[in-house]
Amino acid sequence: MKLTDPVSELPYVGQTYATRLKKLEIETVKDLLYHFPFRYQDFSHPSKIKDLWIGQDVSLTADILNVTSLRTKTGKFLTKALIGDETGETEAIWFNQPYLSRTLREENRVGLAGKVDSFNGRPTLISPEFEIIKGQATLHTSGLVPVYPETARLSSKWLRSRVKPLLLNAGSLAEDSLPKSLREKYQFPPLGEALQKIHFPKSQMEAAKARQRFAFEELFIFNLRALARKKKWQEQQTPVKIEREKFAKELGKFKKNLPFDLTRTQERVLAEVFADLEKEVPMNRLLEGDVGAGKTVVAAAAAYLVYLNGARSVLMAPTEVLADQHYRTLKELLSPYGVRIALHTGTKKEKEGDEFDLWVGTHALFYKKGDFGKVGLVVIDEQHRFGVRQRAQLFKKAQTGKVPHILTLTATPIPRTLALAVYGDLDLSILDELPPGRTPVKTYVVPPHKRENGYRWLGEKVKKTGGQAFVICPLIEQSETESLKQVKAATAVFQNLKEFLPRLKIDLLHGRLKSTEKEKIIQNFREGTTQILVSTPIVEVGIDVPNATVVMIEGAERFGLASLHQLRGRVGRGEKESFCFLLTESEDPKALERLKALEKEQSGFALAELDLALRGPGEISGTAQHGLSELKVADVTDQHLLKEARDAAQNHFAEKC
Ligand code: ADP
Ligand code: MG
Repeated sequence: MKLTDPVSELPYVGQTYATRLKKLEIETVKDLLYHFPFRYQDFSHPSKIKDLWIGQDVSLTADILNVTSLRTKTGKFLTKALIGDETGETEAIWFNQPYLSRTLREENRVGLAGKVDSFNGRPTLISPEFEIIKGQATLHTSGLVPVYPETARLSSKWLRSRVKPLLLNAGSLAEDSLPKSLREKYQFPPLGEALQKIHFPKSQMEAAKARQRFAFEELFIFNLRALARKKKWQEQQTPVKIEREKFAKELGKFKKNLPFDLTRTQERVLAEVFADLEKEVPMNRLLEGDVGAGKTVVAAAAAYLVYLNGARSVLMAPTEVLADQHYRTLKELLSPYGVRIALHTGTKKEKEGDEFDLWVGTHALFYKKGDFGKVGLVVIDEQHRFGVRQRAQLFKKAQTGKVPHILTLTATPIPRTLALAVYGDLDLSILDELPPGRTPVKTYVVPPHKRENGYRWLGEKVKKTGGQAFVICPLIEQSETESLKQVKAATAVFQNLKEFLPRLKIDLLHGRLKSTEKEKIIQNFREGTTQILVSTPIVEVGIDVPNATVVMIEGAERFGLASLHQLRGRVGRGEKESFCFLLTESEDPKALERLKALEKEQSGFALAELDLALRGPGEISGTAQHGLSELKVADVTDQHLLKEARDAAQNHFAEKC
């Protein structure tokens, strides 16, 4: 047998169980061995019958003295076994498992484990786990018994029985992916032993040590793969040679003419990007920066340099709204220098042709007819919304054989240590300084009884200051396209608000509207014709309207902190004082505490760190696509472990690969 063999070839598995196992993503023998228990039932202190008391969790060994079956008054099928040990007798009962009367025989010796409950006034074992002992060691009813993630008709008991015999020679089935030197350094047990210990430990300590090994191993391999990808990436070549010195004058002019001075951090990041562009190895850099940190201008400067060197750039945005906004911004920044910019989205397509230097669009760019000609740079805004395959498709369009520089922008501030693990194959630039003059957005958590006050306040504020407001609807479900349910929820909020504030101009924006309608709505809001824009969470990565000063988020508890922070980032862009209200009906103290963090904290990085600690990596958007969800054992909030594994992988890679 090999680790790569399908599970269906194991004894007692067969097609039916193979199908059930697949639900747990178990397809090979290895998958089964790596399906670890998430806890252990402690049956290491066996009881005697005379000591049983009601409510106790017990395990014991006894003889079956008598088995009877009967129907209860309510029609249930009852199997009753009289059991005894040297201290006394009691009963064990099971419901609706008629086959038990054939399995359990008088004079069988059994291991039993479960809860003692009162039945007809006496302490009785109700539906305990059991196993008939025929000289072998018990598997289910004594010691530390593993409890696995289960699925329908696939119990821990069944899994235990399949895993146990596999462990006999598991160690010899595969090469240990942790080198001996590392095992020794950290005193990790070798593979076979570790598998034995994580499935059937003698103590919780032993289990923990084995788990630690697998967590480390997982991250180690994860990092090695990233390093391999990076190496492969670096074997490629760009289609254009980019020079900077030659264009120092032009670049200087570009910077001087900006409506603001670049911050020190922007300068630093820009220098990192330029240094990459000058290399013939394509850049693969991630620019992480809080909402409003000013990533666009960095991308614009890079695109300009590429243009000066006679090549094109492509910028991909996740939504039409955002593509449209980038198009405007870039046009403003770059067209004075002769850069010709095209917008290409699902609904707006410039003529095909050679006359453009910078293509801005959505995923519609993937399906653009023809190629882009000589592309030197691809900028991807919020890449997590694009799949890896789509990315590859885009490169193909860029130019065969050669690979353009890639700059990815993200406003999801993943803490650095985690980012290094997640994006191990990318270089990282962090824009952790906001441009000057931003006032913090005053943030409040609003309970249900203050909601009407909130609405009233909102109305007053808008009237008094001439500012504008976003009202964001609750997130109904996570999905790429907007569901009907989501639209309904938004419509309800919209109606409600219109009734409450009849004199204000209120509009509704959601993903199911036609593009032209969406555009009109955004246009009206941008121009100030509408005062309040009710929107589904699609504006998250969208609109830049400096006059908007209030954002009200309904069902705030449904969002991750990072998302809430992004939504909040829609306001506070101008000089006026800005506000964010987090409406919630949740009474869960944990949820409220999480929301309260936003009242105090303005930094997206700090919030991301907190979210990670409180809710795990799933909440940080984008991490799933980067394989982080593959990590089953490792706790990615463990910074120390992340770092150790990363260093180990780097050393190993440098030596061996
Ligand atoms: P994000 O990083 O969220 O994409 P943007 O690039 O949209 O942020 O920038 C947000 C706003 O900040 C824009 O209106 C932009 O013009 C402005 N901005 C960018 N850099 C600076 C700066 N150095 N000083 C002042 N304002 C800036
Ligand atoms: Mg942006």
